[in-house]
Amino acid sequence: MSQYGETVKRMKAASAAEEPPKEGPCIECGKVTKNETLSNYGARCFKCYEAYLAAMPKVDTADKRSEGPKAWAMRLKRLEATGVRLSSVQKTMWRAALREPTHDQD
Ligand SMILES: [Zn+2]
Repeated sequence: MSQYGETVKRMKAASAAEEPPKEGPCIECGKVTKNETLSNYGARCFKCYEAYLAAMPKVDTADKRSEGPKAWAMRLKRLEATGVRLSSVQKTMWRAALREPTHDQD
């Protein structure tokens, strides 16, 4: 048999025998976790992933899926209501988009 054929045969045998590991350690707690879970949760086990999410600051994002195409305007409205300073352009734009009267002017 040729050198090449021999190498291919050996590689096939090796890959059949040594399957890649199906689990690995969580980067936070080191718990042995399925690879699928690790790749879904940023190399963390599910428990650490939940803790990671809980520790993240909540960011108010505009969500078109639940609020429609004017989600950005509703987000700006919420931000203004919570005391965030918007630029006068932002104030004007969200009010125009949501057809709310401008209180500053008029
Ligand atoms: Zn963990």
